[in-house]
Amino acid sequence: MLRQLGVTGWSVALGAAGILAVRSPTPGVARVRETQAACRPACWQLRLYTIERGKLDDFAQAWRQGVYPLRLKRGFQIPAAWSIRETNQFVWVVGYDGPESFDAKDSAYYASAERAALQPDPRPWIARAEKWFVTPVLSGPAAQDQLPVPPGAEASDHFDPVVATNAYLATVPPDKRARSDAYFEGGYWLILWNVLASAAVYLLLLGTGWSARMRDLAERVTGSKPLQTFLYWVQFLVVTAVLLFPLTVYQGFVREHQYGLATQTFGPWLGDQLKGLAVGIVLGGVFVIAVYGVVRRAPRSWWIWGSVVSIGFMMLGAMIAPVFIFPLFNKYTKLEDARVKDPILSMARANGIPASEVYVVNASRQSTRVSANVSGFLGTERITLNDNLLNRCTLPEIESTMGHEMGHYVLNHVYKGTLFFGVLTVLGFAFLRGASGWALTRRGGAWRLRGVDDLAAMPLFALLIAAYFFVLTPVTNTYVRTQEYEADIFGLNAAGQPDGEAVIDLKLGDYRKLDPGPVEEFIFFDHPSGRTRIYAAMRWKAEHLTSGPLSGGV
Ligand SMILES: [Zn+2]
Repeated sequence: MLRQLGVTGWSVALGAAGILAVRSPTPGVARVRETQAACRPACWQLRLYTIERGKLDDFAQAWRQGVYPLRLKRGFQIPAAWSIRETNQFVWVVGYDGPESFDAKDSAYYASAERAALQPDPRPWIARAEKWFVTPVLSGPAAQDQLPVPPGAEASDHFDPVVATNAYLATVPPDKRARSDAYFEGGYWLILWNVLASAAVYLLLLGTGWSARMRDLAERVTGSKPLQTFLYWVQFLVVTAVLLFPLTVYQGFVREHQYGLATQTFGPWLGDQLKGLAVGIVLGGVFVIAVYGVVRRAPRSWWIWGSVVSIGFMMLGAMIAPVFIFPLFNKYTKLEDARVKDPILSMARANGIPASEVYVVNASRQSTRVSANVSGFLGTERITLNDNLLNRCTLPEIESTMGHEMGHYVLNHVYKGTLFFGVLTVLGFAFLRGASGWALTRRGGAWRLRGVDDLAAMPLFALLIAAYFFVLTPVTNTYVRTQEYEADIFGLNAAGQPDGEAVIDLKLGDYRKLDPGPVEEFIFFDHPSGRTRIYAAMRWKAEHLTSGPLSGGV
């Protein structure tokens, strides 16, 4: 409820400020901005009136019926007003956030014909008036305008989403922009280097007969097929992890520190890598045992059953990850701060999400990145925001992010994504069947491979899977990016915080290129770029400036 009041006040201010700017053109905008600089981006004034004895109720009624609606109509925000019976006083808070100065706006209000026409005029009942400009300390309706909205993106009668988007993007200093571009563009090359390095390792294992020897060892140790599969898997995973370790260190540790995104020293970082390897051995082990089980039992239709097993594991993994896997790396706690939790849960209820908790993850243990996510499947779904987001962002930014995450939830993105990647999995297995047959005919003898159900052929399958997903990069990115865009639109409608969205999009620009070309965005981006997201937010803002429910009558 508090959130809704805040949003209403905010749209009133935007709507009215936009309309009123038509009436009073501001030739000296720059000068006015300077004088208002003391309380930018929004001015809040606390007014304490001592009312003539016996007139407090009359005053309050006249104020509520006359002053309050007129002030709102003229672009002010009034989050609260109270009567103090003991002292016969009336206290209220009035704010203004727009292109004019508070004083000019206030004088224009008093000089207006509408103000002069107020009946009854409560002013004569004021015996003494005290006014102070105040600074918000807590978030809430009165603090929403602490967002650093740049000139050009502020509400006005000539608000233009493109100009506003450019104004936001222009707030990022060129050196910071260059750094973030370099980081993200380096990531394009890393996609290629990872595929090439893995391919080299897999071909090495096949070509040197190393893979066949790992199989032979597994077969000597045990006669049990599942155990042989597991033993081969452990060797395969450890050997590839060791051979690819230099690349892993570079991209996961050195490079992250170079760009100031990492917070871990080498020891804890290595610890996380080893934990990841252990999870891969256990969960991956169960998976390969199941897949090789069906490959052995269905020599012709193994690719169909392999797809079924893979999709089943994908769903199981998504289901258990938030409960059993993520907590191995980070601490998850329930969000306690009611100031943040209450508006989030209110938004969740408003959108039909039966959430009673919001989770916070201590992502700052590894990284400075601001992030949030929806995880889980079939009952383990949860919304998690990371502590960087909580610590670095204002409430409107958090609300806008949570609106986005709720969009993933309400739009069933997890289930649709499972279907999409399920189809890719079936197609992938069909590709594996054709390509592995082709490769085994040509190189099977040289690599000492007996057939598709031979454990020693695992590097060949890994190579083909890596090539398949490498080629599909633009397809998978575009699918995910499209869902992210849908979640953005949902979030804007749910949270009503276009400036919060824009400000957080700039923070995501710490690690994602803000303004790429369209082809670049299509191929490489698994989330919309900063420009795309900010433009969507500013477009929403523009439409809510002109068609807001409260601007029609002004
Ligand atoms: Zn998302």
